Amino acid sequence: MKILVTGGLGFIGSHTCVSLLEENYEVVVVDKLSNSDISVIDKIKKITNKNLKFYQADVCNEEELDKIFSNEKIDAVIHFAAYKAVGESVEKPILYYENNLISTIKLCKIMKKHHCNKLVYSSSATVYGSPKELPIKEDFPLSTTNPYGTTKLMTERILKDICLADPTFSVIILRYFNPIGAHESALLGEDPNGIPNNLMPYIMKVAVKKLDSLNIFGNDYDTKDGTGVRDYIHVVDLANGHLKALDKVNNTEGINYYNLGTGKGYSVLEVVKAFEKVNNVIIPYTIVARRKGDIAACYADPTKAKKELNWEAVKTLEEMCKDSYNFVKNQNK
Ligand code: UDP
Repeated sequence: MKILVTGGLGFIGSHTCVSLLEENYEVVVVDKLSNSDISVIDKIKKITNKNLKFYQADVCNEEELDKIFSNEKIDAVIHFAAYKAVGESVEKPILYYENNLISTIKLCKIMKKHHCNKLVYSSSATVYGSPKELPIKEDFPLSTTNPYGTTKLMTERILKDICLADPTFSVIILRYFNPIGAHESALLGEDPNGIPNNLMPYIMKVAVKKLDSLNIFGNDYDTKDGTGVRDYIHVVDLANGHLKALDKVNNTEGINYYNLGTGKGYSVLEVVKAFEKVNNVIIPYTIVARRKGDIAACYADPTKAKKELNWEAVKTLEEMCKDSYNFVKNQNK
């Protein structure tokens, strides 16, 4: 089977390409390299000893997409390509709505033109807003607190309408919790430019002394130790969830939604302590004010994915911390 992976050189996309190649899928990547690097292709090849086909193109560009679908006989699409920085989305909402919505609309239009009707879409737990109950189930009410989250929720709605109008079109929506970790080879991982927004990339920069100290955003939440609680999931577990979703999307009709998380919540302090212990490093930190828009706690009920996709996360927080550190050390050699 030939799979088109949009945004295939990004953090989650690159790990998913590895999993796909390891399972002998043919992989075609389209990526505009706005937040990824061409060198990732060689790293994927090195890990898997297999080849992939690469197109540098913008998924918003209908003509380029059309050419790719004419050149390749694509059986299914995994759509990662999107802008994902929450803070930036607040500053630049037009950029986010334009990029994240138009790309999916053009993609679906061209898929339909070429009779490709299987799509796995990268959504996010952000679509649950501030959940009233935990753990979070797929049928919880949906709402968002920033333009990035709204692009995810709006895209989910667009895909639902496409499936309603065309019963041959089938979509799996994957709602990710907090992906961290890196490939165990230390070749692939997350290495944002500048000052990271997310917890693990920040800890990684502190660990290699690129940043002095972590700011912990609040220790007065109603959680086990007062710091925010999240469901951190190893990116390799997450990547494998996409392969299970592909199996499912090939055998179902309509639209289906799955949480991809571990079901366990860890606090910021627990993550810091686990990182220090497993890597034998010190992460200096300061408690500062809460970050605007943050919620106290968020973790998945992953039983639907286990039951219907036959998938569950297996890697521990310690493995996530170890692989993250090995990757960042390798990057800064
Ligand atoms: N966090 C923090 N310092 C940072 C970045 C994040 O204390 O520099 C906290 C944040 O308040 C939240 C948790 O770490 O409780 C996870 O934040 P992240 O941005 O990684 O994910 P999200 O908030 O999107 O779930």
